[in-house]
Amino acid sequence: MARYIDSVCKLCRREGEKLYLKGTRCDSPKCAVERRKTAPGMHGMKRGKLSEYGLRLREKQKLKRIYGLQECQFRGIFERAERQAGVTGDTLLRLLECRLDNVVYRLGFGASRKEARQLVNHGHLMINGRKVKAPGALVKAGDSVEVRQKSRELLPIQGALAAVDGRGIPEWLELDRAACKGTIRSLPTKEHIVLPVNEQMVVELYSR
Ligand code: SF4
Repeated sequence: MARYIDSVCKLCRREGEKLYLKGTRCDSPKCAVERRKTAPGMHGMKRGKLSEYGLRLREKQKLKRIYGLQECQFRGIFERAERQAGVTGDTLLRLLECRLDNVVYRLGFGASRKEARQLVNHGHLMINGRKVKAPGALVKAGDSVEVRQKSRELLPIQGALAAVDGRGIPEWLELDRAACKGTIRSLPTKEHIVLPVNEQMVVELYSR
């Protein structure tokens, strides 16, 4: 699987807004979007007017980058959303939000989705008491997501838990901080998922 290894701050600068890809640094004055308003690269000063297609493309890139996905992964999730009943944009957001790496981030076990994914990859998380190493595993209402007993004192997890109050836990999740355990109260709805993205434009882009 291909992996993006350049600076993630360039992704935010490309979109011209904060995508919160780096944990606590994103809220500090060191944030690259705060310090440099231009897009990366030698032509970064020139931000021309975007076409209809360009506007939709940027929305898709933003959503994909927020969740740290490659194009083929994102496209696969979109196609899955399309096959399900209901509004495709809402389903797409729900499927993205229910990924295990995102839930681990939302519960505060990881400072960013990237860090959360690494914790999952390294086998530190369990769903319903069973170890799961797939960051893309989907959680269901009633599932529990917890840090394995032997991993609870890890500094990155404790550090992330200490910082989670700043961004808050979404109401569709419940956290038992002492037990490093979260519960999925219900599946997230569009109202729970506050992102700087117009998901309808993503649907329009792929439907062309
Ligand atoms: Fe984006 Fe965070 Fe880097 Fe700021 S610090 S540019 S929000 S990843």
